[in-house]
Parts: sequence; structure tokens; C-alpha cells
Amino acid sequence: SCNLFSALRAAFPADLGQTAIEAAGPDGAPLYYTWRDLDQASARIANLLAALQLPEGSRIAVQVEKSVEAMLLYLATLRAGYVFLPLNTAYQSAEIEYFIGNAEPAVVVCTPGNFGWVSKIAFTAGSQHVFTLGDDRTGSLLERAAHHGDEHQPLPRQADDLAAILYTSGTTGRSKGAMLTHGNLLSNARVLKEYWGWRADDVLIHALPIFHVHGLFVAIHAALLGGSKMLWYGKFDARAVIAAMPRATVFMGVPTLYVRMLGEATLTREAARAMRLFISGSAPLLIETFRSWQERTGHTILERYGMSETIMLTSNPYTADARYGGQDERRGSTVGFPLPGVGLRIVDDQGQPVAVGAIGNIQVRGPNVFHGYWRMPEKTAEEFTVDAQGHPWFKTGDVGQQDARGYVSIVGRSKDLIISGGYNVYPAEVEGFINELPGVDESAVVGVPHPDFGEVGVALVTARPGAQLDGAAIIAQLKAQLAHFKVPKQCYVVAELPRNTMGKVQKNLLRDQYKALFQ
Ligand code: ATP
Ligand code: MG
Repeated sequence: SCNLFSALRAAFPADLGQTAIEAAGPDGAPLYYTWRDLDQASARIANLLAALQLPEGSRIAVQVEKSVEAMLLYLATLRAGYVFLPLNTAYQSAEIEYFIGNAEPAVVVCTPGNFGWVSKIAFTAGSQHVFTLGDDRTGSLLERAAHHGDEHQPLPRQADDLAAILYTSGTTGRSKGAMLTHGNLLSNARVLKEYWGWRADDVLIHALPIFHVHGLFVAIHAALLGGSKMLWYGKFDARAVIAAMPRATVFMGVPTLYVRMLGEATLTREAARAMRLFISGSAPLLIETFRSWQERTGHTILERYGMSETIMLTSNPYTADARYGGQDERRGSTVGFPLPGVGLRIVDDQGQPVAVGAIGNIQVRGPNVFHGYWRMPEKTAEEFTVDAQGHPWFKTGDVGQQDARGYVSIVGRSKDLIISGGYNVYPAEVEGFINELPGVDESAVVGVPHPDFGEVGVALVTARPGAQLDGAAIIAQLKAQLAHFKVPKQCYVVAELPRNTMGKVQKNLLRDQYKALFQ
């Protein structure tokens, strides 16, 4: 059978009495979970799900605060052969109504405090069961599971059977449900374990949310498949994570987490001495953060690139990569090489591969690529294209380039591309220049409609603490360095950039805010 849970379970250490997860209890005291605990507790929940006699392919929708038990619910869903559907904890009733109405889950699990309104939405949408799960081991899910046995035989699954539906972050529009199979998830997890040199004595600091690819699949699968321990944090706390580093070896974070840790005086070379690997992804890592991290800790952050539809696609090398001449350099501002088994090509708007180093649309294929958007066959068909050999390629929607050495860089999303007076302007390039100006903390460049040029760039810039910035002066400085068609027509200094929970700048909100500027 190709049940992902069976593969993860097979990697548990022989001594099930060892600690698998160290979390914090309600009083802050450590709470230990052994490998046996993970096995037995997920078996109880799987038995509960099995007893509900749900139809084949049923979705289990989950919107709960992060907890080890929420992860166990994920494992239990795999075990029982159902489809896990995690939802962002920030979503409110209008969003939950859309997702539950769209996914029609047989089971909904929510936080105890939300039971009233979530259950109403769920029952209206035809769900048969609503359970609650708190982040302190309270709620009806565990109460009910306690009545079931702690042994459970994973359901046989084929590689092509659905394991999860992950809604995309909604950065460019309405979220789409990416259908991922047991085969997608397992193949990617195995590649990452190998590529990042995962070891049984690794200790992962897990401080990411678990409703998204990064925290749920990349982090948890790697640790479980490596048979390695996790230090589990419900919420990211820069000081707590830095304090945990002497007992850990691997950290995964989105770029904003690195920025926040750099703001702490306790982040030193000494504090990070025991660590072997820092991984970043989900949003672009600024070269400045990459360099500051190197200076402060002596470690080079490994940046990788992926998305809900494909899990991980590229990674900077951890050790020498024989496929690329044995290079082992982690290069800032790049997302590294296509992972083993991942096909990646850069094409122009007509779908023709571009010259080495040229900018174009990123397309990918491989065993990690999803099986389509949930209930959106037209959208799915639009986002795939078939080459002359009959291979399907997925259009990532990202724009990038691959240099002669094989390193891939992302220059933005095709939806963020600005076409000004007929010329392509890549926001990431302009942002790179702005970020190097004195006093600038960070920036975002978005395109807005313009009567003469069709579209022009508007720059939003935040200042470093104590720095005084002037939008007009920034534009003047850019004009000295860049072709004028690339220079934003307006530049505003703002207090902060709007970001979603994964640290992505929400350019759609900015475009909307400034759309009437030149009208
Ligand atoms: P939607 O598809 O709904 O607009 P989204 O694309 O933000 O939302 P995700 O699947 O969570 O939803 O995010 C994937 C995207 O994140 C990628 O397509 C890419 O644009 C961005 N991304 C991920 N890793 C990196 C990285 N290392 N550097 C730059 N961008 C990255
Ligand atoms: Mg996307």
C-alpha cells in the first residue's frame, strides 16, 4: 500500500519510548510525547473516524489552533484513508462559509469557542459531524477518541489517492483547493529528507503554522521520516526559538521570522552553534537578511521554493550537488536547483523555452505535482500545458530565470508584472534597488492603471527605525540607477506592508488601494 502514514510510521525509531515531540503545557512546563504516544493517539482518532463510516474520499476540514493533537488528527486522517483539509486560523465566518460550502467536508473540527457558528455553517453545507479541539487537549474530538482502541491498521491507499486538499494562500485572488495525493506527498518528503541530509539525531524547531505546506508537510514529514525529534511551539516567539537553538539542529521559517530573530540581541554565533541548518521559504528572502544572518550567526540560510500545488520544487544545495558540477554554495537571492525528480523550464508567453539566464514563466512537472484544483476543472485545464513529448507541465504563475550554473531565481509573479508603456517591469528588480538605499527597511512595487502608459509602478517603502525618508528623493535616486521606464511614478513612505500569516506581502490589497491614483 502507498498510504503515506505507513511510510512515516515505518520510519519511527525502534525504541518507541523515546521522545518524539517536546511541547509546552498550559503552565509552560514541558510536555513530552513519545513515538508510542504519536502512534497510539493517532490510532484512537483514526478508529473514531472509521467508526463514523464516512463515504470514500470524505474530507475532514480542520480549523483549530496549532497543537500536537491537531497534527495527530492529520496523521489519523491519513491512516483512516480520508482527505485532510486544513484551514487558516485567521479565517472568519464569511471565509469559512466559502471553504466549507466549496469542500463539503463530512467532518468539521473547530476550536471549542467557535462551535456555535462553525457548526451552523457545517450542518447547512451537509456535514454530518462537527467536533471541537482546543490547543490544550480539550474538546469533543479527544473525548470521543478516548473510547476507541489504540491500535489501527492504516487503510490501503494507492499513490494516486487523495491525501489532502490545501487551499492556496489567496495572494493573487480567491484561494483554490490543491488536490494532493499520497504519492505527491511521499515522493517529495523522501527527496527532501535526502537532499537536506536529514538524520535521526536531528532536532527540528517547529514554530510554523500547520495549515500550510511549509509547516504541515515540509517540516512535519521531514522530521517524522527522519525519525527525529521536534521542539514544538504553538506560536512563533523569537526569543524562545533562539533560546532553544542549543538543543536543536534544524529550523524552518518564513523570511519575517528571520527578520524578527535578527532584532534580538540574544541571537549570536554562540546561540546558533549547535544548529546545522536554517531553511527559509514561502516568500522571498531579502539578500540583506541573508547577509545579516551570515554575519550574526555564521550560518548560511538555505532558501527553497515551492507552492501548495507542488510542495517543494527547488532548493539551494545542502552539500555538493553532483547534478550541478558538485556545487554546494547556497546563494542568496536564488532558490537553488530543481530538486531531484522535478522538471523545471522557463518559457516565454508563447510557451517556448527561453535562452539561459533570460526571464520567463516557470513551469514544472514531476511526481510532486498536484492532481488539479478541487472542483475547478476549467482552471486546472488552464494551468497545465502539454509539450511535444506529451508531458504535462504546470504553470506556476511565477516568473524567474535559471543561470548557466543551474540556480533558479524568482523575479515575481506573472500577476504582479507591470507592463508600462509596452515594457516589462519586474517589481522584484526595482524593490532590490530601493532596499539598498540608505534608511530603507523594505519595499513593495505594484502596478496601477495609467492613462498614458497603460500601467505604472507605485512604490511603498518602510523606513528603518530613526530614519527619515522622502518619496520624491527615493524616485530621484532610482532615476540615477535604473532605466526610467522601470522607476515608479509615485513613492510613499508607509508604516508597514500588509502581509498574510505566511509573511507574503499582499500586493492585491496595495493595487486596490492605489488603483485610482492616476485616473
Ligand atoms: P494564490 O495561489 O492563491 O495566489 P499563493 O501562491 O501565495 O496564493 P501558496 O501556494 O501558499 O499560495 O504560495 C506559493 C507561492 O509562494 C509561490 O508561487 C511563490 O510565488 C511564493 N514563494 C514560495 N517560496 C518562495 C521563495 N523562496 N521565494 C519567492 N517566492 C516564493
Ligand atoms: Mg499560487
